[in-house]
Amino acid sequence: MKLERIYRASPRGIGKNWGLGCYVCCADDDTILYNDCAFFVPSRETGEAIEQMISIGAWLDYRETEPNWIQVKIGACDAHLSNLQKLIELVELTRERADGPGINERMIEESKDA
Ligand SMILES: [Zn+2]
Repeated sequence: MKLERIYRASPRGIGKNWGLGCYVCCADDDTILYNDCAFFVPSRETGEAIEQMISIGAWLDYRETEPNWIQVKIGACDAHLSNLQKLIELVELTRERADGPGINERMIEESKDA
C-alpha cells in the first residue's frame, strides 16, 4: 500500500489565540479569541507548505532568533472546535509512521466535514 504524502507536524494541545481566524468557516475577526492548535514543524519550508493548504485560520510562527522552534498555528471558532479536534485526531493516527506525525490536505478537508 502506498502511503499518502504528509508534512511532518506534531500537534500540541488546544489553546487560544486572538484574531487567528477559523480554518473551517474562514471567519476572520481581529477582536475574537479563537481556539488554536500549534503544530511543531521541522523547517520553515514545511510550515509554509502547510500554511498554503489553509487560506484563512493558519499562521506560521517563525522567528529568526529561534530557527529550531517553528510552529504552524491552526485556528477554529467555538462552533468549529470539534473540527479542529478531529484534525488533531487524524494527525495523531500517523504518529507511528517513520515520517509522522504529519498533516496533509486530505486530513484538513476530512476534518472540515466532521
Ligand atoms: Zn468557524
